[in-house]
Amino acid sequence: MSQFDLQGIGMTSQRTRDRLVARLREQGIEDEVVLQLMGSVPRHIFIDEAWSHRAYEDSSLPIGHGQTISQPFIVALMSQLLNVQPRERVLEVGTGSGYQTAILASLCQRLFSIERIEALVPRAQERLGAMKLRNIRVRHGDGYAGWPENGPFDGILVTAAPPEIPEALIEQLAVGGRLVVPVGTDQAQLLKVIDRTDDGLNETVLEAVHFVPLVNGTAKQ
Ligand code: SAH
Repeated sequence: MSQFDLQGIGMTSQRTRDRLVARLREQGIEDEVVLQLMGSVPRHIFIDEAWSHRAYEDSSLPIGHGQTISQPFIVALMSQLLNVQPRERVLEVGTGSGYQTAILASLCQRLFSIERIEALVPRAQERLGAMKLRNIRVRHGDGYAGWPENGPFDGILVTAAPPEIPEALIEQLAVGGRLVVPVGTDQAQLLKVIDRTDDGLNETVLEAVHFVPLVNGTAKQ
């Protein structure tokens, strides 16, 4: 049973979550802690009711304001790549529904998340509050600037695609830290991991992905 069961809504979807985890394994996700979370965090509470019957399909779904909740495979892959340790501080850029936020917050000590669309912030906060996750701060703002007051971060995960890696995010990466970010335009994006070592930065380029763009500035809705 899910460690996050909320009254009445957890049990119904446990079997479908188990099937999702089996699919993620087939697709190559190997991190057992991440798989355990994908099997226990209730994705359906992060989605509007009209779409919640599709919550455990491996697809992105609309969350309003022209945005989407990321595909479970991508959430699992990025969480695995971020390789978060329990005592670490993590920054997420692009809170969206808050689903990826819940997964990351369960892996680290403190999670900071920034969302540019103001209307999405209280909705995500409500859902994360209902899950009793208390190590999270979500704020409305422009993720291009990061969250310098709370850095440096051991992990930074960006869930929307900038054309180039924002300089502020590199600056807020701790030594030993990892930045996972999709980079590119609407047509062509690549998932990248930047590691900061004592000697500097290492870039690893992974697969082609498709994210909504990381947009400059903030919006009310
Ligand atoms: N991880 C989220 C993904 C949502 S889509 C989820 O699974 O629900 C990406 C999100 O990034 C959107 O909510 C979008 O509004 C937000 N975003 C885009 N540009 C941003 C920016 N400059 N700063 C912060 N958030 C941004």
